[in-house]
Amino acid sequence: MDELADQYAAISLEEEESGGLSYEAEEALDGGIDTRWCLVGRFLSDRSIDFEKMQHSMATLWKPGKGVYIKRLEPNLFLFQFNHEVDINRVIEGSPWTYDRMQLVFERLKEGDNPRFVEINKLDFWVQLHDLQPGFMSERVCKEVGNYIGEFLESDGNNFIGVWRDYLRIRVRMQIDKPIKRHMKIKKSGSDWFWVNFKYEHIPTFCFICGLLGHAEKFCSKIFETPIHEIVKPYGPWMKAIPRRQQYLTGSKWLRSSVSVQPSPAKEGDLTMGAAGMDEDDSGKKGTANPEPNPKGYDSVKKRRVWYRGGKFGGK
Ligand SMILES: [Zn+2]
Repeated sequence: MDELADQYAAISLEEEESGGLSYEAEEALDGGIDTRWCLVGRFLSDRSIDFEKMQHSMATLWKPGKGVYIKRLEPNLFLFQFNHEVDINRVIEGSPWTYDRMQLVFERLKEGDNPRFVEINKLDFWVQLHDLQPGFMSERVCKEVGNYIGEFLESDGNNFIGVWRDYLRIRVRMQIDKPIKRHMKIKKSGSDWFWVNFKYEHIPTFCFICGLLGHAEKFCSKIFETPIHEIVKPYGPWMKAIPRRQQYLTGSKWLRSSVSVQPSPAKEGDLTMGAAGMDEDDSGKKGTANPEPNPKGYDSVKKRRVWYRGGKFGGK
């Protein structure tokens, strides 16, 4: 009997060697996964995610006109397949998004990408640049400051039109595995340095000790290394921008605390920027403790709407 078994084994091994399938590269073997409007994303949290609840919440937040199909690839890795450029762009441009106070980070798939192996570690934010002195309100400053914070994407179209604004807004792509930046020093040659301070719109939970997104200070690894009374918190709630919706409620859109002036055009050329060198003493830093700034993060499973579309991945 052993001999017969050995023979079968030999045959099957031979078959393995002589078999094999070969396809032309352009042939679609997987039923043609349509990567045109796909995002792959994960939530910045160690908590487990209720997939059913999450997909209804995200669909309710996004309201994609042509629907979205959401597939769970791993416990915390999801594919979001849209059916139109308009819908996917609205989600990309409207980021950051949260579900149950957990930040969604995502990447748009490129053709041929395997969603399981796409690196997801960037997040786009609107950042407000506060305390810029007159003469520095320029597109060039926006770009250079943006590239210091992360990667500059765009400048708010309203930055340089109309009346004086207290701050400029820029869209920046940030690395989520690096601490968020607090401020940057700028000067013109011949004058003194000053700090431009950053406020982040709709920023989710971040750590006031290490400056990383995705955990609060009580879950920071640094509290295991340093006695609690020696812990320094260089970051704080002043880095959260007050939601603009709330500004409307308080009337600050219309109320002025100082005289409106036209910004003087910034002169190009003799600008200096730096990240270090000035005293890093931020004790007594101004700013108010803003209330929870993320109106998008609400969890609205109750509204089971039609935007979510179940179905076979890749199917039409
Ligand atoms: Zn931390």
